[in-house]
Amino acid sequence: MEIKFALEVMETAPLEIKTHLGRHYSSVLKTKGEKYGRQRWDEILKSSSLTFYKVTAKGVAAGWVIVNTKNSTLVEFFVDEKFRYKGLELRILDKIIETHKLISAELPKKDTEKYELLKEYGFRPTRKFTFYDTPMITMDLSIAVYLEKLKRMPGVSDQKRHVVAIEKVAGTQTEGDVKNGIENLLKKLGGIGTFVQRGQTVVLKPNMVSDHGLRDGVATGGVVTDIKVLKAMVEILHPLAKKIIIADGSSINRSATMMMFRHYGIDKLKDLYPEQVSLVDLNTDDLVEKTVPDGRRLETRSIPRTLVDADVIINLPVLKLHFAAGVSLSIKNFQGAIPPLEKYKSHFYGLWQCLINTYKIIMPQLIIIDGLVGQEDFGPVSGSPKKMDLLIGGTNPVAVDTVASKIMGLNVEQAPHVHMAYHEGLGPIEDDLIEIKGPAIDEVRSTFKQPIHNLQNGKCFKIHNGRACIGCAGYLHFVLNKLRKSDPAHENHLLIDRSLEKNINVFIGPQTEDFINPDETNIFMGSCQQHHANGLGSNIPGCPPHTEEIISTIFSFYQDVAKPKYADETEETKLRELLNSVLNSQTNEERNSI
Ligand code: SF4
Repeated sequence: MEIKFALEVMETAPLEIKTHLGRHYSSVLKTKGEKYGRQRWDEILKSSSLTFYKVTAKGVAAGWVIVNTKNSTLVEFFVDEKFRYKGLELRILDKIIETHKLISAELPKKDTEKYELLKEYGFRPTRKFTFYDTPMITMDLSIAVYLEKLKRMPGVSDQKRHVVAIEKVAGTQTEGDVKNGIENLLKKLGGIGTFVQRGQTVVLKPNMVSDHGLRDGVATGGVVTDIKVLKAMVEILHPLAKKIIIADGSSINRSATMMMFRHYGIDKLKDLYPEQVSLVDLNTDDLVEKTVPDGRRLETRSIPRTLVDADVIINLPVLKLHFAAGVSLSIKNFQGAIPPLEKYKSHFYGLWQCLINTYKIIMPQLIIIDGLVGQEDFGPVSGSPKKMDLLIGGTNPVAVDTVASKIMGLNVEQAPHVHMAYHEGLGPIEDDLIEIKGPAIDEVRSTFKQPIHNLQNGKCFKIHNGRACIGCAGYLHFVLNKLRKSDPAHENHLLIDRSLEKNINVFIGPQTEDFINPDETNIFMGSCQQHHANGLGSNIPGCPPHTEEIISTIFSFYQDVAKPKYADETEETKLRELLNSVLNSQTNEERNSI
């Protein structure tokens, strides 16, 4: 029978915690324990961002929990020995995670009992630091585990109601049709004057991800924001705005945003009003360090000055699927708003959470999704165009992305970052909290073909999938496709079916049911598998790991085969070095407070 427990918030930390810290850490850290306990207590008293819970079970005091609400981190967790059976401890963690959307924990490296408990729940060791002289570890909750928990969590209360406008555009999609469509959409949202005042600086943030959107000089649609949408926005803003800046930071061909602007003819928009319109490469812009409100995992982000200084930001994503993120809509479009190192860091600290963190800082005033032509299957760049003749607009990213996902035939749970953003209170997903202006979703819905991830084994190449989320599954599929090519050493075989001296095993996802054979080659993918790497094989860090990291690790076992080119390798190497210096700079001083 399950024991009932209750959590009660305490105004201040009771003195018994001090006594306990001394006792507990003396047993964990031996001679250094008492001093550590005192330092911890001093820090607890100094911090203004902690919430203290008293745990009662069977009507008596059974322990307590301390949570840092600023960064959603579990600071201390204690359950009295009499009640220390896993069921109860895991249920207490469930409740804390539900209340705070908590996704990290920190503890001394030597606190093995707590480590094992958190590991069983789904936390994984990801970073090291020292608290005064004590080696500590940060454990991050596997987002795959968290996403499963979110499906069962109650909805978010106190969400505001938001309007999302839908506009059908004439199928001819001429410049006039598109401008007319945007004007109608804006009317449904109160008109452009609701968002832009005379004399303001307005940034238009399109999606210019890569050069895949032109084939033989003809726009395929669905990859980058249609130039007709940008042109219409420039013309609509011309009588109002002082400056109109078209700004983006391309993804795959790093630092080549200006090339993308020329590639798609966006640079010509400057000629419409040369004094007013300019282009900015956000990959090379000056940066401003900003604190993320309630930031999880990464508490600060470097944001391009152009976005910080803008009076109004208008987000112009494309209606498309993403093979590893579910959808690429308004929230995902802001991965292109940050510079390369920040993009790279996002993968290491957890992409879904970092997307939300970025959005919390930048928060555009208006979103217009270009759904003239969407992209199904393996979006964001390698899928197929799907003509939709639609524009979708609003101000709230969660509400707009929810409506756009439904139009593509997805539910929000299939888009991890949108679902997480909802649970962080960024906006509603409920039908009764989203007022649709324009045709009903059912009238314009056309189900997009979903990408199917092929994680089939090769002859000596085995994939052990322990409930990985779409992130690792998607990126691994992408890289495996490069192994499903003819083997230059044996032309009748695929590279993935090459005979090897030792099997290669790739473990993904938070669960590991298969035996890990230390005599074979083991690759542990992502933060979900990071804990196995010690002595058993190598880890590809990240959540999900960056494609370049997966390619480099897997192709290091095929030395005679040219490594597939993903991005500019010199840039990637520079970024990796920069990132390593960032990760290693978590000094004592920075982490000497909680
Ligand atoms: S490490 Fe991979 S499987 Fe685990 S949560 Fe991250 S993306 Fe998903």
